[in-house]
This record gives sequence, C-alpha cells and structure tokens, in this order.
Amino acid sequence: MLMHMYEGDIMKDVVCGMNVEEDSKLSSEHDGKKYHFCSKDCKAKFDKNPEEYAKGGKGDKKCC
Ligand SMILES: [Zn+2]
Repeated sequence: MLMHMYEGDIMKDVVCGMNVEEDSKLSSEHDGKKYHFCSKDCKAKFDKNPEEYAKGGKGDKKCC
C-alpha cells in the first residue's frame, strides 16, 4: 500500500530556519503542533523555550 510521500513533508526547523524532513526523529510537540529539528541542539533549545520559537520570534541561526 502506498501512501502519499513527499507531499508537504518538508518542515522548517523553527530554531535555525533550516528545512528538515518530517520523518526526522527529532521532534517536539507544542500547543498541539509538531515541530521538527535538524539536530539535538535545536530540539533542546526549542524544548527550553517552545513559546518563543513557536511564534517565530527567536531563531538565532547558530547551529547549522
Ligand atoms: Zn536546526
């Protein structure tokens, strides 16, 4: 059985602004929404301060 693949599968890492694939294992949920990250560092940063990143105000573009 085939499911739709690669359709809206690219997510944005809200911490560094990079595109990440949705099957990345690095993800967190905040406010009912799922966020994906390029690295553990980005996820850790998000987890520390999800609200800031979720509204797009931060993004320090440091990691990648
Ligand atoms: Zn990142």
